[in-house]
Amino acid sequence: MIILEALLIFGLILSSCKTDKKTASGQAISASKQKQEWAIVIHGGAGGMTKENLTPELDKEYRASLVEAISKGKKILAEGGSALDAVEQTIRTMEDNPLFNAGKGAVFTHEGRNELDAAIMDGSNLAAGAVAGVTDIKNPITAARRVMTNSPHVMLAGAGASQFAKEQGLEIVPPSYFYTEKRFNELQEILKKEKNGTVGCCALDKNGNLAAGTSTGGMANKRYNRIGDSPIIGAGTYANNNTCAVSGTGHGEYFIRWTVAHDISALMEYKGLTLREASELVVNDKLVKAGGSGGVVCMDKYGNISMPFNSSGMFRGFATSDGKEGIFIYKDEGIR
Ligand code: ASP
Repeated sequence: MIILEALLIFGLILSSCKTDKKTASGQAISASKQKQEWAIVIHGGAGGMTKENLTPELDKEYRASLVEAISKGKKILAEGGSALDAVEQTIRTMEDNPLFNAGKGAVFTHEGRNELDAAIMDGSNLAAGAVAGVTDIKNPITAARRVMTNSPHVMLAGAGASQFAKEQGLEIVPPSYFYTEKRFNELQEILKKEKNGTVGCCALDKNGNLAAGTSTGGMANKRYNRIGDSPIIGAGTYANNNTCAVSGTGHGEYFIRWTVAHDISALMEYKGLTLREASELVVNDKLVKAGGSGGVVCMDKYGNISMPFNSSGMFRGFATSDGKEGIFIYKDEGIR
């Protein structure tokens, strides 16, 4: 009898724990709870691109570059690689591509230099690494990952970050490596008019781990060693296995003040919103009311993807293990 009673009480405790857990992590985290084996989503920057102002040639080039980047991450994930590897390698591909405002294609500061920011975050343990205002590290996303794994810090800036990258054996380039004529000429135009662009990636691997990364040259014409949202954990980059992975692009000052990436995660965790509800609320309501233009790509632990933006376009793409994939640029195409 005593044993029976004990079993009953134990059963009750177990079932109440289960209910608590469900409510605590938010029952309605996802529209679909069907789990993708793996999933990847990328962006190549939000901005003013429209069908009218992007030439057919550039449209084609951007789409091909997004396909190239996503293929890299897709392969890693399909072969059982980690979300972190997929994020790092996918972003490296875009950093090496002069079309994007990251690495080789970074925009110019007011003084005609290139200062790069990047961050990466591991959703399994909330480990994170970032570099800010670096001028000679070829692939800032890799430096960010080393800060996460090989240093006790989260963010290193400027000369110190370069020294650390050198000590880590990463590829250092002369600052002139980042000079591209297109970006330099653009600067001359932009000296009157600010402009943005960036790259980012979120991934879910076969072990159920989420990761996010973002890399950027920042806002063109920036001054005074300005640092944007991309390397700031919770602003432009965030990942947490319990909720979602997020990478943002847009007017960084707003993403920092509205802690965009973490706000999406918090709305899911504390309010039980789905990924779509949370990201739409932050990007197309809160940010719009604040006057902050941009967008995010994000993914929940089931591999659901959301890509909301409030600018006229955002270079973006996704692929999931059930065979779905897509590459989009404008507002009126594909899914958001
Ligand atoms: N968010 C980046 C920054 O403010 C720029 C961008 O995404 O275009 O540095």
